[in-house]
Amino acid sequence: MTKDYYGTLGVNKTASKEEIKKAYKKLAKKYHPDLNKSPDAEQKFKEVNEAAAVLGDEQKRQQYDQYGTTDFEGAGGTGGFDYSDFMRGADFTFDFGDIFDQFFGGGLGRRARGGRRGASRGSDLLYNLEITLEEAAFGVEKTILVPRLEPCEKCQGSGAKEGSGMETCDSCHGRGMLQQTRKTPFGIFATTSTCRSCGGEGKIIKEPCEYCDSSGLVKQTRKISIKIPPGIENGTRLRNTGAGEAGERGGPTGDLYIQLHIKPHELFERHDHDLYTEVPISFVQACLGGDVKVPILDGKQATLAIPETTQTNTIFRMKGKGISSAYGHGDLMVRVVIQTPDKLTKQQKDLLRGFAKEGGDKIIPQKGFFSKLKEAF
Ligand SMILES: [Zn+2]
Ligand SMILES: [Zn+2]
Repeated sequence: MTKDYYGTLGVNKTASKEEIKKAYKKLAKKYHPDLNKSPDAEQKFKEVNEAAAVLGDEQKRQQYDQYGTTDFEGAGGTGGFDYSDFMRGADFTFDFGDIFDQFFGGGLGRRARGGRRGASRGSDLLYNLEITLEEAAFGVEKTILVPRLEPCEKCQGSGAKEGSGMETCDSCHGRGMLQQTRKTPFGIFATTSTCRSCGGEGKIIKEPCEYCDSSGLVKQTRKISIKIPPGIENGTRLRNTGAGEAGERGGPTGDLYIQLHIKPHELFERHDHDLYTEVPISFVQACLGGDVKVPILDGKQATLAIPETTQTNTIFRMKGKGISSAYGHGDLMVRVVIQTPDKLTKQQKDLLRGFAKEGGDKIIPQKGFFSKLKEAF
C-alpha cells in the first residue's frame, strides 16, 4: 500500500523544502516519545520521520511522486538514506538538547550498555487488596507483603563495590554531556546530549557492587501495615506516600497505592452508606404483624416490628443500622418476603378453608415489586 507521506506531514504535494522542514520540526516535537506520552506517539513519530526522510530528499521525493514508493532496489542508485543533496544546502542548526538526544541515535530511552543513569524517582506501586464488607464498614488494620526495590545496603545505593570509588568518565571527561553533530535531511543538528557512558554524572563506577549488580537497588519484600478507615467505598485507592520503590542514585521514592476491593456479602448489598437485606416472614406474621429478627452487619440481630397486613416485598427502613463513616450514617433496608408453608396439617387446611369462606382469599392486585422499590428509594 502506498504511504501518504504528504498527509503524514500535513503538507500538500507542492510544498517547498522549507514548508516540509517546518512541518517536520513541528510534528517531530509533538510526537517525540519523551514529550508525548500517548500510546500511539511513538508510532506517529516513526511515521513522521519516515515521511521526512523521503520528502526531505529531492531524489527520493521525485521517486515517491512518480512511483508512490522509494522502496525498490537500485532506484536512483542510492541504498538507504542519502542526505547529501540536502546537506549541501544545510544552512541551519538548532539545538533541542536532551529532547532530541535519542532522536536520531535510535534506541529510544534505552540505557547504553554499561552505562548508568542519573537520579530518578522510584516507581509507584499498586497493590490490590480484597477486604470483607464488615472490614470496609468498621475499618481494619491490614498487613500486606510488598516486594519492592530498595537501596542496596552494601553500597548505600551507590552501585560501587565497598571501598572502591568512582572515576572520571572517559567518554565525556567528567562533563556528563556530549556535543554531537548529526547529519539529517534538514541540515546539521548540533545536539548536546547526556553522556551515555556515565548517565550524565561525569563519573563511572570502578568496581561494581556485586549485591546489586551496580544498580544500587535490590528487591526486598516488606511487611507494610495499612489502616483502612471505617465506611470505605469499594474501589477506593489509598496512598502510602514514599512506600513505593526507591529512586535510582538517591532519587525520590515512589508511592504505594492500595486499591480496595470489597468482597460480595452473603446477606447484605451495599449502596453508599445504606445496606440492603431480605428477610423471610410467615404468612401469619404478614397478616397479623409482629416482631421479626433481622441480621445486622456487626453479627448481631435487631428486631423489626412489622404491622398487620404487611405485603410481600415491602421494604422497611431501620435507621442508623447501615454503614457509618466520617461522611455520614446509613440505614438498613429490609425487604420482607412472605413464605408459603410447604406442609400443612389437616386442621390447618380446615382453618384456612374457614378463612377463605370468611372472604380471606380475595386477591387485590398488588403493586409490582419494582414500583415498590421505586417508592422505597
Ligand atoms: Zn550495591
Ligand atoms: Zn560520561
